[in-house]
Amino acid sequence: MKISVVKNILEANERIAQQNRKLFQNENVAVINLMSSPGSGKTSLLERTIDAVGDRVRIGVIEGDIQSSKDAERIAQKGIKAVQINTDGACHLDGNMIRDALADFDLSELDLLVVENVGNLVCPAEFNVGEDHKVMILSVTEGEDKPEKYPLMFHESSVLLINKIDLLPYVDCSAEKIREVSLGINPHLEIFEVSCKTGEGIDRWAEWLSNQIKCKA
Ligand code: MG
Ligand code: ZN
Repeated sequence: MKISVVKNILEANERIAQQNRKLFQNENVAVINLMSSPGSGKTSLLERTIDAVGDRVRIGVIEGDIQSSKDAERIAQKGIKAVQINTDGACHLDGNMIRDALADFDLSELDLLVVENVGNLVCPAEFNVGEDHKVMILSVTEGEDKPEKYPLMFHESSVLLINKIDLLPYVDCSAEKIREVSLGINPHLEIFEVSCKTGEGIDRWAEWLSNQIKCKA
């Protein structure tokens, strides 16, 4: 019984995600679903990304959090339109929540929409929202065992950003090991080692992201 209920929820979500995807395709908006644990640096990465490409890419942001509008306020400080979704306890964003938030955007004026998911390494990976790519962050303070413990997110993502590499001298964690295990789970994973604190490596991530932007007719 329980299994079929879960299946129905995922199927219903997939239908809405497909509708969102059509909408994004019609407007040539590239969409990234950004996922990680709480505190890995999703919002910091967004701030760095806006600094790196914001002068040539028109960006919109949807912020998902259980509560508060702190992240949307940080993004708005950069002069970027940010809509906050409060899930009131739900631990992931789904297609329906994104569809509702789209009412606040004019997609024809955007090149890139970034959805910052709720901080959680588990179920955000199960719910498509209509994105082109799932992008995940694992920071080196979380430990090199995380790809083996939470393989689905690594499997579903197109990009893995290994963040906080400035802290590598202080933690028992090898970026090389994260890389090796993650590629074992998903050989197609693009991996960038970055520090949102120092800005190291952000240029290569920004280049990958720029290559995802679609040509506006
Ligand atoms: Mg955040
Ligand atoms: Zn969840």
